[in-house]
This record gives sequence, C-alpha cells and structure tokens, in this order.
Amino acid sequence: MSNMFKLDGQTAVVTGANTGLGQAIAVALAQAGADIVAAGRSAADDTRALVESAGRRFLFVEADLSSTAPVQHVIDAALNFQGRLDILVNNAGIIRRADALDVTEEDWDAVLDTNLKTLFFLSQAAAGHMARQGAGKIINIASLLSFQGGIRVPAYAASKSAVAGLTHALANEWAAKGINVNAIAPGYFETNNTQALRDDAQRSEAILARIPAGRWGSPADLAGAAVFLASRASDYVHGIVLPVDGGWLAR
Ligand code: NAP
Repeated sequence: MSNMFKLDGQTAVVTGANTGLGQAIAVALAQAGADIVAAGRSAADDTRALVESAGRRFLFVEADLSSTAPVQHVIDAALNFQGRLDILVNNAGIIRRADALDVTEEDWDAVLDTNLKTLFFLSQAAAGHMARQGAGKIINIASLLSFQGGIRVPAYAASKSAVAGLTHALANEWAAKGINVNAIAPGYFETNNTQALRDDAQRSEAILARIPAGRWGSPADLAGAAVFLASRASDYVHGIVLPVDGGWLAR
C-alpha cells in the first residue's frame, strides 16, 4: 500500500518553492522520492538543502512568473535535467489587498497574470510533454477564495475561483491522456502570504476562532495532500479542489 505514494525516479516542477507552501510541497515530494525543479524569481538555497538532505536531486530555474515569457524555458530546463517531467505544482502566487473601489488595473493584472495566466500556460506546456509520455500530474494551488469572496482581495478571489474552474476544465480535457489535474485549497497558513492578516490582531483572532482545528495551518500540513495528488494513489482522481483547511469550510 505504501508503494502507491512513492515518487521514486520522478521529476517534479514546483513554482515558488523557495519559501512557504511551495517549499513544504517540494520537500514532501522529495521525501516521497521525486527530484525537484524549483522555478521562481528568488534563490531557493534552503529548499535545495532540504531536498538534497532527503537524498534527491535539485535544480533551480530562475523565472519571473509574472508573465508567460519564461514558461517554455522552465519546461525545457526540467526536461533537460532528468529527461522527464512527471509532476507540475503551480504554487507561485501573489495577493494584493485593497477595497474593490480602490483596486488599480496594475494590481488586477499582476494578480491575474501570476496566479492564473502563467499557471495555465505552464500547465499547457507541461501537458504537451505529459500527453506524449501518457502520464502526468498537475497540482494547482487554489484557495478558500476559490469558494468564498474573502475580504478586500477581489483580484485574488477572482484568480483563485478561476483556478478552480480551470482545474475542472483541464481535467475534463486531459484525463483521457493519462494526466491528472487537481487542486489543493489551503486554508489559513502561516506564510508570507498571510503576514498582514496575522499582524492584524482582530482579523487574526477572528480567523482563528472559525477554524475547527483550533490553529492556523503550518506549511507541512500540506505534505500529505500534495504527495497523494502527485502519486499513483490518485490515478482515478480528476478535477477535484481539495480543501486542507483545518475544517474552515465545514463551519
Ligand atoms: P508566499 O510565502 O508569499 O509564497 C509565494 C511564492 O510565490 C513565493 O515563492 C514567491 O516568490 C512566488 N512568487 C510570487 N510571485 C512570483 C513571480 N512573479 N515569479 C516567480 N515566483 C513568484 O506565500 P504562500 O502562502 O506560500 O503561497 C503559495 C501559494 O499558496 C500561493 O498561490 C497562495 O496564493 C496560495 N495560498 C496560500 C494560503 C496561505 O494561507 N498562506 C492560503 C491559500 C492559498 P518570492 O519569494 O520571490 O516572492
């Protein structure tokens, strides 16, 4: 049974793996046996150390994912690394906080381009290869705001709702090619993304009060879901958006 979760000999691309949830996912996939290609704009030396100490190979590909310009380079670099690409985790994302009346076009475009447009074109480029290989796993990092509107983050909510829709759409098209497209919807996790919320005592307390598990998520809480969706254990799972949220949505 445990073999179903093993990723030995596989290569995973994880975007934004230098910190936060992306780092935890990269380390979890490495511990399950995958070699890691980290694509992002900031050096990922800590992640490299963690992946290599798990006995896996690591490649950093510098890429500013606010545009689609580096997409083909990221996929080509991953293929040159080990000659294969089995798993793509679309994790890189940004959030900009403002009342809807004050959102600028620049902020709107930045959030939608990074969180949605690049995610789609990276998936497209990876899926071309995975389809020829007859197998592949694409994991999108969605959000509770794939289901809810949130507070003062309209572009982010729009982008993450679209990520859920796109996850369904791509699963429909690519399931028959042997590619599983699924998403994880993290709840409230302690990362840079939520620093502003955690710095706001009132918001922080209100959020905590609604989480049935009674605590914020720690990045390692995503490990199990990520390995499940990357592994053979999820071969017949297509198009789900899996909340890992301490029970938030059940409330
Ligand atoms: P984070 O610590 O801010 O990490 C975001 C990652 O995305 C970083 O590696 C960041 O790189 C990268 N990134 C952002 N813009 C990029 C760009 N233009 N090019 C390349 N990389 C870029 O926050 P996180 O919480 O781990 O976020 C990871 C994902 O989880 C995001 O998609 C986020 O929306 C989602 N999420 C988080 C939570 C939560 O509670 N934390 C909840 C739901 C969903 P830099 O370090 O260079 O900025």
